[in-house]
Amino acid sequence: MSNNAPRKKKANAKGATKKQSLLRSLPSVSHLLEHEEVRSWLESLPRTSVVTSVQAAVHATRRAILAGEQTEPIAIEELVELAEEELMERSTPSLRPVINATGIVLHTGLGRAPLCDAAIEAIVEAAAGYCSLEYDLKTGARGRRTDHIEELLTTITGAEAATVVNNNAAATLLILHTFAQGKQVIVSRGQLIEIGGSFRLPDIMGASGAILREVGTTNRTRLSDFQGAIDDQTAMLFRAHPSNYRVIGFTEDVEMDALAELAHKHKLIAVDDLGSGALFDLSRYGLPEEPSVERSLSGGADLVCFSGDKLLGGPQCGIIVGRPNLIEQIDTSPLMRTYRVDKMTLLALDATLRCYLDPEHAAQNVPTLSMLRATTEELAVLATRLSELLKAALPSEQFYVGSDFGYAGGGSMPGQEIQTVVVQWRPSSASTEEMADALRDGDIPVIARVRDDTLCFDLRTLREQDFEPLVASITAAVWDEEAADASQDDVGIEE
Ligand SMILES: *Cc1c(COP(=O)(O)O)cnc(C)c1O
Repeated sequence: MSNNAPRKKKANAKGATKKQSLLRSLPSVSHLLEHEEVRSWLESLPRTSVVTSVQAAVHATRRAILAGEQTEPIAIEELVELAEEELMERSTPSLRPVINATGIVLHTGLGRAPLCDAAIEAIVEAAAGYCSLEYDLKTGARGRRTDHIEELLTTITGAEAATVVNNNAAATLLILHTFAQGKQVIVSRGQLIEIGGSFRLPDIMGASGAILREVGTTNRTRLSDFQGAIDDQTAMLFRAHPSNYRVIGFTEDVEMDALAELAHKHKLIAVDDLGSGALFDLSRYGLPEEPSVERSLSGGADLVCFSGDKLLGGPQCGIIVGRPNLIEQIDTSPLMRTYRVDKMTLLALDATLRCYLDPEHAAQNVPTLSMLRATTEELAVLATRLSELLKAALPSEQFYVGSDFGYAGGGSMPGQEIQTVVVQWRPSSASTEEMADALRDGDIPVIARVRDDTLCFDLRTLREQDFEPLVASITAAVWDEEAADASQDDVGIEE
């Protein structure tokens, strides 16, 4: 035993000198920065990113040597490759394009509505330069930024005046703040909505300074309930569209016609928060009916507000239409400035609204509408094509075409199941959940639906231009899993 101790010490000392010589042989950061390839990165990337990545590669190698994992001298090319991986990782933003295979057309988490081509072109053209945002080209005088689209909005909805803010939550708050600060607003108990956690009508009322007066019950509210609550503190009768739920069964609700008539008799204003306002009757395309802006206005609503990026299929914004004197008061409110939209939003909205001048054109060209109205026959053709591409790329995996149900999402068409077609896959090399994670974490992230222990790629939200990157992402995920399995097997053999 006593003989062994000095020998072990000697072995350790030998290991330490080996490590030291490996560490000494590591090229310095400044030496690596002179490498031809590293220098070429500096042409397109900030110096700090390149330097940080090279430092990270050297540090990682140093740690590997000290831990005894790196026992051979490392080639400079290998270090450059490591630095490149670091650089890629660091320069990939976490906010980036993804492939939406969920079938949820208006997925709030994935940015809601994809824009139509005309809107994209308008943004690209104006983004790099200047535009007549608040400039009257005829007179050279200062203009109002929302003037550009007011005419389009009034033509399409039949309203007399219109304005645009950042989102519909802002539109609601601005209306309440402008007309009901310190006064009462009467709302049915069946309509105290919450949209996606952060928009809760009672909280928005509170923030605006308006006083909420709830009437009726969760399932039944009558005109007499509103009537009984009106007093000299009342400023507004307010209706909110239950966008993401439905009250069914023994129910009763007050139509806008009756609500507006009552409001006007008492010199109050009637406001309709439509949420996902449809600009024309979508049921003619076989879609579930959504309350339309036009009908709300013809019912007598003084102000109607709705989102630009829900069913309308435009950029994120909130649109307010209604009586000119009321719109003017909103436009001149000091809060308006804090909610104003930028040039790109206005340009995209303008281009999207132009599609609506002809509803048929909109139904064909606005992606949200064309996706929602695609028939299962059309989707089945696409599904077959996608599954064939997948089978060709991954012959050992099983893909099959199936039918399923999806939803519009984004607070539109609540509770309405929409029949759809999916490509289903039960991965052979990993669990469905593991594969869903791997796809989400890929170079081009894919967000799929998991059902019955299979991954579903829903054709309702996949466009043909998504097929190639989708197949590439799935192939890469399978190869990665197989490589991981193989390296685990290696470990097994060594043991
Ligand atoms: C979605 C919705 C909102 C909030 O609109 P954003 O554009 O998301 O701000 C407000 N009210 C109703 C009824 C909605 O459906």
